[in-house]
Amino acid sequence: MLDFETLDRWDKEYFWHPFTQMKVYREEENLIFEKGEGVYLYDIKGRKFIDAISSLWCNVHGHNHPKLNKAIIDQLQKVAHTTTLGSSNVPAILLAKKLIEIAPEGLTKVFYSEDGAEAVEIAIKLAYQYWRNKGERRKTFITLSEAYHGDTIGAVSIGGIDLFHGTYKDLLFETLKLPSPYLYCKERYGKLCDECRDELLSMVEEILKERGEDVVAVSLEAGIQAAAGMLPFPKGFLKGVRELARKYNTLLIVDEVATGFGRTGSMFYCQQEGVSPDFMCLGKGLTGGYLPLAATLTTQEVFEAFLGEFGEKKHFYHGHTYTGNNLACAVALANLEVFEEEKTLEKLQPKIEYLTRRLKEFWELKHVGDVRQLGFMAGIELVKDKEKGEPFPYGERTGFKVAYRCREMGVFLRPLGDVMVLMMPLVISYEEIDRVINALKQAISFLS
Ligand SMILES: *Cc1c(COP(=O)(O)O)cnc(C)c1O
Repeated sequence: MLDFETLDRWDKEYFWHPFTQMKVYREEENLIFEKGEGVYLYDIKGRKFIDAISSLWCNVHGHNHPKLNKAIIDQLQKVAHTTTLGSSNVPAILLAKKLIEIAPEGLTKVFYSEDGAEAVEIAIKLAYQYWRNKGERRKTFITLSEAYHGDTIGAVSIGGIDLFHGTYKDLLFETLKLPSPYLYCKERYGKLCDECRDELLSMVEEILKERGEDVVAVSLEAGIQAAAGMLPFPKGFLKGVRELARKYNTLLIVDEVATGFGRTGSMFYCQQEGVSPDFMCLGKGLTGGYLPLAATLTTQEVFEAFLGEFGEKKHFYHGHTYTGNNLACAVALANLEVFEEEKTLEKLQPKIEYLTRRLKEFWELKHVGDVRQLGFMAGIELVKDKEKGEPFPYGERTGFKVAYRCREMGVFLRPLGDVMVLMMPLVISYEEIDRVINALKQAISFLS
């Protein structure tokens, strides 16, 4: 085994990390993970951490899960990868069938890719081509401020986080942007409420009335703008948008990349509002956090618009080398079986209630300005001055400093700016939830 010093040096010399200021990274103490077990991660120094962000929101049943490991090993002994461009493979077929069985009614087809951003790109292109195949030329997307759908150019175009997206403005296609529901409600009403939801919905309706015939699709995240700092929608907003998209004859893209696979308490958030979108994007938890796999689910109606004779050129000219990868699909299938065998969602409900109760304690802290939650997803916003709602200066990296303190207490976190994100694996125990909450509370109370 190579020692820490060597690996640390090579890491800092060769590896450019995502979403990371490398100048700062190279000056700081490195965390190099080596193995995982359940909700725990171990670094090469032998230190043990609770993985309180599910390895960036994707781990579900814990690390090193025997059934998930076995699914990969069994498939590996057959074949690791075969192309799905014009041919097929067993786990990809079985997974597609299974996904349609558990998805909201009306979704009947699965298009695979590797990452959440790709699932979104595919929804964008499918929606766009759907109208062209039907002989209409539509160009506009209705999107939300503070939306996050991934980092490729199409996904960035329908996104709305200025810090991540502003730089690339000239490269993006234009969209009609509505306010972020949470921020809008907070500003106007101080909270999420039905009046605010209805106001937002009438804005959506206004635009659809005016521009509907040019609107390719309305796109939004499911129930919460997670990457923007855990900003939930008012209840019923998603359902309202669904109805409006139908009323004005346009398509609805719902991004469940963060919310899917139990994170909000149900398998998909759409199901909590009885919503059946025209496109549902999945990623992150799809393989239980094991391998990169994503999927764009869509309807029979969309699918059929792409059918025709070969020479009509109506088909979807899109694919990736690893689309429908055998290993990834095999572990995704096992992930869904574990949900059933371990009754993951049933066991999660009281944990969500427990989390809700414990989150209340954060309001007492001097530097906590807001506490937000949807299901098992939570965000705790740090502020410099609670009365004035004044944030800490961006350059101070307060969120990171709090996360580093948590690290010293054996809890691994990655904040979004100054929002401390809790996105724990669904299998976490009550005792471990307590350890995460206690560490975070303590770390925040260190702030002066
Ligand atoms: C993470 C995320 C994505 C992007 O997924 P990647 O796998 O990182 O490309 C898209 N949408 C939402 C809502 C996400 O949280």
